[in-house]
Amino acid sequence: MAPNNTSEDQSASFTGRASTGAPELKQWSYHPRPLGPEDIEIEISHSGVCSSDIHAITSTYGPPLDRCCIPGYEIVGKVVAQGHNSRHQIGQLVGVGGVCDACGDCTECHTGFNQMCDKRTMTYNDTYKDGRGGVSYGGYADRVRVNGNYTIRIPAQISPAEATPLLCAGITTYAPLKRYGAGPGKRVGVVGIGGLRHLSIQWASAMQCDEVVAISTSDNKREEAKQLGAAKFINSKNPEEMKAAAMSMDIILCTAYDKNQPWADYLQLVAKNGHFVLLAAPELSFSVPGMVFLMNQVSLVGSLIGGKESMQEMLEFAATHNVRPWIEKMPMSDANAAIKHMMEGRPRYRIVMETEAASRG
Ligand SMILES: [Zn+2]
Ligand SMILES: [Zn+2]
Repeated sequence: MAPNNTSEDQSASFTGRASTGAPELKQWSYHPRPLGPEDIEIEISHSGVCSSDIHAITSTYGPPLDRCCIPGYEIVGKVVAQGHNSRHQIGQLVGVGGVCDACGDCTECHTGFNQMCDKRTMTYNDTYKDGRGGVSYGGYADRVRVNGNYTIRIPAQISPAEATPLLCAGITTYAPLKRYGAGPGKRVGVVGIGGLRHLSIQWASAMQCDEVVAISTSDNKREEAKQLGAAKFINSKNPEEMKAAAMSMDIILCTAYDKNQPWADYLQLVAKNGHFVLLAAPELSFSVPGMVFLMNQVSLVGSLIGGKESMQEMLEFAATHNVRPWIEKMPMSDANAAIKHMMEGRPRYRIVMETEAASRG
């Protein structure tokens, strides 16, 4: 397939694993955009696999891909080149999350929500809005060039592999807990299984919330939830357990979505003035009972990753409070096996792919 970038640096060629619409990824090379004044070039050592990558390559939410897409927006690597206005150090370890560029000058950018900037560029399969043209390519590759202002420092206490999933799964769960006041005096519930939940439970425990409750449809998650730090477990299919927990949680993070989600039951668990936060996006519209919003002043809200300042704060918090994702490492040369493993829902809990640069350290 022809390259997408209108303005290309012909002297550089990056090689990644690309999708052209089929879930199967193929090796593919492209010429990146010329290194802009604020840009950095990163030699990638680690790249996380997120369920959003699967949505992108299978076009769950949009029209089929009409261009090559290199997925991956949990990226860690070393700076190997930079533009004349960049203040990074060559060799410095950095991370890239879901957004690789934004305007830096709108209300959202000024208030810590650059992920919602109208001129943001998502880290892959997006078109740049900075006037230089071109398409963004993600982290399933040997290298990437991004605006250095949107990269995150990796604290020394966290290994590059463990930092990787924090750049999407970590910030997605950390940001709403902070926004809605998680901490002493608050009780937090976490719906769902898997990657987002295992970090949600760890954050809420580390933030010293009064109670951290895992809510699952299956009793066999009980022991696992305890290991992660959840003091309490509710089987959402057990009416007695659900009734006993009515209005007992100030913040509920909903990390999973299925079409038979018992919304009414879940919303009944939220305490007065509490928040029910959607982190997993429903593919279809859904209905919820209305009275709980009036009588209990419950808020049903969504949350999208996090701004660059929140991401830096989140990594520092993880470093000092010993929050670490549980990861499975796979070589990037097995990207298709990693995708398959993810689609089958088997990883415990996040897959981190390593490039050859990882073995060089
Ligand atoms: Zn993600
Ligand atoms: Zn902006």
